[in-house]
Amino acid sequence: MVNTFGSSSSSEQACPRCGSLYEVRIVQLPVRDKDSLDCLICDHELDTWNGTTFSSYLLLKREPWPKPIKV
Ligand SMILES: [Zn+2]
Repeated sequence: MVNTFGSSSSSEQACPRCGSLYEVRIVQLPVRDKDSLDCLICDHELDTWNGTTFSSYLLLKREPWPKPIKV
């Protein structure tokens, strides 16, 4: 069995606003940092951090935005 993700943990998370799918990895920082990350598609704030770990978001699946209006 091959572990393609090595020792780092990763998970998938969908943006609650537009539904685009991200791969999330927890990354250790050498220094404390305070920052936030917004969805690349719809600008919804996905995460904020203040410390020595933050979440790295990799866009896996892009959803159409703004959503097409269904009638
Ligand atoms: Zn979004």
